[in-house]
Amino acid sequence: MSEKIHDVIIVGSGPAGYTAAIYAARAALEPVLFEGSLDSGGALMNTTEVENYPGFAEGIMGPDLMLAMRAQAERFGTQIITDDATELKLTGAVKEVTDSDGVVWRSRAVILAMGSGYRKLGIDDEDRLSGRGVSWCATCDGAFFRNKDIAVVGGGDSAMEEATFLTRFANKVTVIHRRDELRASAIMAGRAKRDPKIEFAWNSSVSGIGGENSVESITLTDTVTGQHREVPMQGLFIAVGHDPRSELVTDQVELDEDGYVLTQPDSTGTNLVGVFACGDLVDHTYRQAITAAGSGCAAALDAEKYLAALD
Ligand code: FAD
Repeated sequence: MSEKIHDVIIVGSGPAGYTAAIYAARAALEPVLFEGSLDSGGALMNTTEVENYPGFAEGIMGPDLMLAMRAQAERFGTQIITDDATELKLTGAVKEVTDSDGVVWRSRAVILAMGSGYRKLGIDDEDRLSGRGVSWCATCDGAFFRNKDIAVVGGGDSAMEEATFLTRFANKVTVIHRRDELRASAIMAGRAKRDPKIEFAWNSSVSGIGGENSVESITLTDTVTGQHREVPMQGLFIAVGHDPRSELVTDQVELDEDGYVLTQPDSTGTNLVGVFACGDLVDHTYRQAITAAGSGCAAALDAEKYLAALD
C-alpha cells in the first residue's frame, strides 16, 4: 500500500480524464492519473481526422489531439501511470485504487473517466478500416462522406438517427438489419422509411468489409437463406449500441439500467462522497470529445471544492 494519501486519483485517459487532470493539476492537487495499459488516450486514438474539436480550424488527427492533452496534463504536474486500475474501493473517506501489480494507491477523492466502448460487429477488417470508412459516430464523421454510398448497421433508434443524419451528406444510405422489422420507435422508423435517400437491407448482416486503404465494399449475408452478396459501399456506420466501462464500480456506485454511472443533478458527484464521474461513462446523449472534456473540467472543479471543504 502506498504511504501517501493523494488528493485525487483519476481513472481514465480520454478527453474527460486528461481534462480533469489539467484542471486538478493547475489547482495544485498533484493528481495521479491511471491511463490504461493498452488503450491509453481513449476512443480518439482509433480515429483519423477530428474536425469538430474547437481550436483546430484545419482539423487535427485524433491521436495528436490526445497526445497534446496528455502533455498538457503532464506539464502541470499530473503523475501519469500507464497501467489499468484493476480494483477500486470507493466508500469511506480514503479511497483505494489497485494497479495491475497489486499496489494500492490511496486518495481522498476519485474521478471516474473510464469512457464507454462502442459495440463492434466482430468481423475481419473492422478495426483495420476504422477511421477509413468504418465509423461508430455519424456526428463525428458524416461530413467525410459527401455524395458517397453509406451503410448503417442496426435497427434501433440510434441507427435510424444516424441514417437520417447521414442523408445530409450521402448519395444513398442503406440500413442493414438482421430482422425484417425495426426495433426503433415508430416515429424514428417512420421518418427513416419516408426518407427517399434511405433504403433497407432486411434480414441481412455484414459478414465482410472490402478495401485496401478505405472501405470499398461490404459483404451481406442473408440471415434467412445464408446467401452472400457483395455491395459497393464507401462507408459503414455501426450503430449496434455501446457499453459504459463501469464494471469496476458496479457494486459501489449507482448506475442506471444501461450501466452508466449516475451523477447528482447539476453536479458530477456520484452517490458516494468524494467520488466524481465524467465523460462517456455518464453520458447517453452527447458522446463527443468536447462534451467529455467539459464534464472532465466540471469533475475536477467539483473535486477541488470537495477537498477544500475537508481542509
Ligand atoms: P474515452 O475516450 O473512451 O477514454 C476512456 C479511456 O480510459 C479508455 O480508452 C482507457 O484508455 C481508459 N480506461 C478505461 N478503464 C480504465 C481503467 N480501469 N484503468 C485505467 N484506464 C482506463 N468525438 C468528437 O467529438 N469528434 C470526433 O471526430 C469523434 N470521432 C470518433 C471516432 C471514433 C472511431 C470513436 C470511437 C469516437 C469518436 N468520437 C468523436 C467520440 C469521442 O471519442 C468520445 O466521446 C470521447 O473520447 C469520450 O471521452 P471519455 O474521456 O469519456 O472516454
